[in-house]
Amino acid sequence: MICDFHIHSYFSADSEEKPENIINAAIDKGMSAICFTDHQDFDYNYPDFDFTLDYAGYFEELRVLKAKYSGKIDIHIGVEAGIEPHLADRVTDFINKKPYDFVIASTHLVNGVDPWYPEYFDRYGDDEGIRKYFEYILEGLKYFSDFDVYGHLDYVVRYAKNGANGYIYAKYKDITDEILKLIISAGKGIELNTGGMYKGMSTPNPCPEIIKRYRELGGEIITVGADAHKAEYIGYKFDYAKQILSDAGFGYYTVFKNRSPEFIKL
Ligand SMILES: [Zn+2]
Ligand SMILES: [Zn+2]
Repeated sequence: MICDFHIHSYFSADSEEKPENIINAAIDKGMSAICFTDHQDFDYNYPDFDFTLDYAGYFEELRVLKAKYSGKIDIHIGVEAGIEPHLADRVTDFINKKPYDFVIASTHLVNGVDPWYPEYFDRYGDDEGIRKYFEYILEGLKYFSDFDVYGHLDYVVRYAKNGANGYIYAKYKDITDEILKLIISAGKGIELNTGGMYKGMSTPNPCPEIIKRYRELGGEIITVGADAHKAEYIGYKFDYAKQILSDAGFGYYTVFKNRSPEFIKL
């Protein structure tokens, strides 16, 4: 089974799952390694969640589990860092505080607004809302480069008024191409994220067309993650993920250890 490299536990404000339950679920599914990637989002100014990672407690607990399960599964410690252009230095400082194996950069806020809340698409409508999200990624990439893969590249479409199924990749190809080229030239990667699929989406983020295009443009680094916030979703639809990767021309996928990519045959 493909190793899951995007996982949340109770160290994220939006999950209540114990890390040990996740580890056991991954072992049951036959994974040889996993990576926890709990959230750190600065300037998340909504009262419902506090996405500040208790990184000291996180490392302490995961290091104990890493030793306990050694020989059964390799446990890696990563982080999913929320990126906005003005946060680049703070995120870099944060990452340098601990020896992470893997860093996912994700756009969860557009000028401080979380598209998960209806106000975002109420204000912009689907077309402009989607384009603004991509523009914001592009802007952030000018300032921030201390990451390994960019998370769920077109994730905003999950929250569009017409739903993800109303999203037409070709409409945004100009800007997604620009993003992919920038990521590739910086020596970074993307991920295939199946997290929207247990919420009803029919395809992962980014969509298979973007994954294919990434490969065409010379992209090589691609991790796979279910973005599970509950143990039961670890490795969700990874057979389908494998198919999408093969169809796009990948013969392997990527994992990270000590911030270095390793390529594993599909
Ligand atoms: Zn995310
Ligand atoms: Zn996530």
